[in-house]
Amino acid sequence: MDAKKTITGSLRDGMFLEMADKKLFDQAIEYAYDYTDKILARQPFPTREAIDSLEVFDELLPEVSGNPQEILEKLHKFGSPGTVLHTGGRYFGFVIGGTLPVSLAARWLGDFWDQNGGLYATSPLISKLETVTEKWLRQLFGLPVNVVSGFVSGTTTAVFCSLAAARYRILQQQGWDINAKGLFNAPSVRVVAGSHAHGAVLKSVSMLGLGRDNIEWVDVDDQGRMIPDKIPVLDRNTILILQAGNVNSGSFDPFIDICEKAAITGAWIHIDGAFGLWAACSEKLNYLTKGIELASSWSVDGHKTLNIPYDCGIVMCKDSDALISALHVTGSYLIHGENRDGYLYTSEMSRRSRVTELWAAIKYLGSKGIEELVDGLHERSVQFASEIKEAGFLVLNDVVFNQILVACTNDELTARTLELVQNSGECWCGGAQWFDRKVIRVSICSWTTTPDDITRSVRAFANAYSHTR
Ligand SMILES: *Cc1c(COP(=O)(O)O)cnc(C)c1O
Repeated sequence: MDAKKTITGSLRDGMFLEMADKKLFDQAIEYAYDYTDKILARQPFPTREAIDSLEVFDELLPEVSGNPQEILEKLHKFGSPGTVLHTGGRYFGFVIGGTLPVSLAARWLGDFWDQNGGLYATSPLISKLETVTEKWLRQLFGLPVNVVSGFVSGTTTAVFCSLAAARYRILQQQGWDINAKGLFNAPSVRVVAGSHAHGAVLKSVSMLGLGRDNIEWVDVDDQGRMIPDKIPVLDRNTILILQAGNVNSGSFDPFIDICEKAAITGAWIHIDGAFGLWAACSEKLNYLTKGIELASSWSVDGHKTLNIPYDCGIVMCKDSDALISALHVTGSYLIHGENRDGYLYTSEMSRRSRVTELWAAIKYLGSKGIEELVDGLHERSVQFASEIKEAGFLVLNDVVFNQILVACTNDELTARTLELVQNSGECWCGGAQWFDRKVIRVSICSWTTTPDDITRSVRAFANAYSHTR
């Protein structure tokens, strides 16, 4: 099909043809393969030139229809070099996983389905996959049979849904229907969190009207773990927010010490386990998650540790009635039956079939494969910590999971080294403040990272450091 025909002919005819002759999709596949073939040769962060070229997207709103091949070509030519290489083995920024091939492929298929995973009536298939995946997740994390799951876009939404459920239940116990009456003049809801709680927790507390300033902060130890003795007296009107995987150090709150006592008070315990909850799947590491089953709700990502493509988070909750009531929607056209309607467990209504990639990942890896994946990330992290120490750097945290906090002898050197590492194109890490020190955060979260990637990256650190002097 040539450009002229698309523009002057019937749009619909053009699109029928595109669906039928598949050339557009072949083109996309060709670009995707070209992208993936170049991963090894590319630096983790786009070059200055690639970023500057993104200016080509600054265009006026098109009035007439474009040529689909040219649109794809533009995306590949200017978009592909402008990406940050999350799928490569030497990207250690934030906490960002790679992509499992089976999940990526399943997602492609799912995109052709274009399912609305909201209701059983809109997709019996997605309802089935969610039902099965929910059961598998309970087993993987060792959670009770009454735990329900909602498949959301990420941990932030999962935290939001969990805290909404907690807020609903706590107020309902005091005779207050939050859905009907709102928060004005409502009885108070206490929120207790560790001083190292993730920004997603603060965001959710704000969005839910609970107020950041009302949070009762609990002191943490030198690894960022909540100190059990510092927790205030809890009661049924309290939400206690714990953490499996500190976003900087990777540390875990001492759940067993905290949860047993907290559960007796009737407090709602939420565990934010965005990347760390997966430690529960490893024999070697599940000492870190002992006691998580005593919580009331959990938030976890598929797109970090499990290496599922983006847009994969899970909210899990023991009190399904609270979760459903908190997220409730009404409409006479909505059809509910005995089969699972996935939207009951999320803050969204319409939703893509995101469970597909998660289902495919678990089906492919199995519990043993997930354990191997998690253990592998940990092993590479231990390797990184040991090699970077040999290279003369300081490691400021206990490397219990997949995070390493690296520092030089002073902040200035650390900042300068980080800048040079980032500019080296060898690997990419971000920085953070860890108590009173600047640190380089290294997060090993991609299945593609090999022992050689680690050694090469440590060499880049050593090189960078030598250039600071
Ligand atoms: C990443 C992260 C979040 C936020 O998750 P998103 O998937 O980015 O929404 C929340 N808590 C912790 C501990 C995290 O690491």
